[in-house]
Amino acid sequence: MNKATARIPAQATSADAPLIASAPTTCPDGVAFCTGDPASHSDPREHVHAGPEYSMTGVYGFELMAFNLAQLDNDAPRLAFVAHGDWPELELNEVDTLIRDLGAHLDRLKAVRAQLAAALDARA
Ligand SMILES: [Zn+2]
Repeated sequence: MNKATARIPAQATSADAPLIASAPTTCPDGVAFCTGDPASHSDPREHVHAGPEYSMTGVYGFELMAFNLAQLDNDAPRLAFVAHGDWPELELNEVDTLIRDLGAHLDRLKAVRAQLAAALDARA
């Protein structure tokens, strides 16, 4: 698959949003996860199928860690993940690596959060 990933407006941008958007597909090719954006299906030679985009928005930033499912024509679907502004398209085993690393990163964030709380307590 090339870098033809379609950008779909974010569907779930906070922890309060539904886990997975449940919008019915309107893909003319019947791709189950595809939102059927007419702009990405207008070229008769190439259809870019894309699912809803998920990201994080809060006091820490805007539309961070975005990802969605993407598929170019009949190629295998991939998970497109924003990283340094580009969108590498990950295979299933690469998504597993991402999930593992995100878990470790969350653990580090929690540890540093505890350090911050301790540092603030020490100042009080
Ligand atoms: Zn589609």
